[in-house]
Amino acid sequence: MTVSRTDVAIVGGGVHGVHLAVRLLEAGVVSHDRLRIVEPDGLLAAFHEKCRQCGMVEFRSPFVHHVGVDPFSLREFADERGRLDELVACQVGAKRPTVPLFFDHARDVVDRYDLESVVLEARVLGVTERADGVDLETTDDDLSARACVLAIGHGRSYTRPEWALDIQPGAPVAHVWDERFDPEDVGDRVGIVGGGITAAQLTASLARPSREVTVVARSPFRVATLEAGREWMHVSRTLEGLQSLPPTSRKRQQVVTEVRRDGTMPPEVFSRLRRAIDRGWATLERNEISTVTPGGGTVVVTCQDGAATWFDDLVLATGFDSPYNAPLLERIREETDLQTGYRGGPALEDGTVRWLRADGTPSRVAVSGIVAQGTLGPFARNILGARRAWDLLVDELEALVSGSEPACQP
Ligand SMILES: Cc1cc2nc3c(=O)[nH]c(=O)nc-3n(C[C@H](O)[C@H](O)[C@H](O)COP(=O)(O)OP(=O)(O)OC[C@H]3O[C@@H](n4cnc5c(N)ncnc54)[C@H](O)[C@@H]3O)c2cc1C
Repeated sequence: MTVSRTDVAIVGGGVHGVHLAVRLLEAGVVSHDRLRIVEPDGLLAAFHEKCRQCGMVEFRSPFVHHVGVDPFSLREFADERGRLDELVACQVGAKRPTVPLFFDHARDVVDRYDLESVVLEARVLGVTERADGVDLETTDDDLSARACVLAIGHGRSYTRPEWALDIQPGAPVAHVWDERFDPEDVGDRVGIVGGGITAAQLTASLARPSREVTVVARSPFRVATLEAGREWMHVSRTLEGLQSLPPTSRKRQQVVTEVRRDGTMPPEVFSRLRRAIDRGWATLERNEISTVTPGGGTVVVTCQDGAATWFDDLVLATGFDSPYNAPLLERIREETDLQTGYRGGPALEDGTVRWLRADGTPSRVAVSGIVAQGTLGPFARNILGARRAWDLLVDELEALVSGSEPACQP
């Protein structure tokens, strides 16, 4: 097995990995030949596919949140191409980009920084720290870096209701994020399970006169413009309050869970759902499914009140599993002395997002994205979180790359 050497290895080429790579190059912390993004599926591809699968039309975040450096570059990109109408006005706050505009701009950023040239098309299986660097075991060449940033997102594990766990692979029941789920392929009678933004977006995008869409939700839909209060968007006393709690404590995770408005949708998405229902293209069933029986290419669904119906396709919009269950994190927990806490979450240094060693010193492994939410708060997973992680990491990575931070014995 060949081992390549580099200065910074970024694990994951989603929004966070791409943004960090751009910032590193822009700040001159590394050159192209000393940077690697390890990503098996193509830069931003996983996120783009999720947006397609749920029929998302526009972003929830404002146009200044994107993968580039200058907050106004997406707006300028739209202006230069006569696409300002793809910045959609919303009831509260700044305009938001449509999905095609966001990804066309992101592609432009990727091309401008020639990021494809730094991609190693592989999955990282393990990460171990040594005195003056980090070794990454991958499904391709192994990598040796001075520092590494984990930007692996949510992972591929999704929440499925109890009744869905034993369903055979060939049955017409899929999770919206399953690789095999293609919204182009659904039949004329579709059931969607879930009461959050994904269920609402999918319902609105699949609903049409020739198709009956039923959304089965056990609790009422909730509307909120943002996924958490604005006070969490800036480094403020609110965030300091979170960080005053013990780093890996259950309490920190609870605070994040409580302040995140998970399952809510912005008013525009709710209006689209309502329009579909008002037109009679979609039906809302306030109920809970108890059993599902596939057979003959369809699926029979029985609810807790005894009502039964059938669908050509049943789609679960039931969310993500814990991000700490990602195989890479499990392996790091098993094989290294990096500290973990409640539910296996990493213990990060609050001022730097570097993962702490057992002795409490910061390691050469840093973390960005949802996995850093105990430190960066409820917007850690969002595009904003990538910008904040960068602000904390820049000096750290510079010191680790230049060698000004001395090697230590891990
Ligand atoms: C449908 C949808 C809409 C959203 N809308 C918004 C929005 O409007 N605004 C907003 O701010 N946020 C939004 N979010 C939140 C969104 O997830 C983040 O903004 C963004 O996608 C997170 O980026 P990420 O890089 O952390 O994760 P991801 O985009 O999931 O990228 C992680 C990458 O890591 C790779 N990876 C994972 N494990 C490994 C490994 N072991 N080795 C190598 N690579 C690995 C994956 O292949 C993937 O490409 C939305 C999320 C969803 C699902």
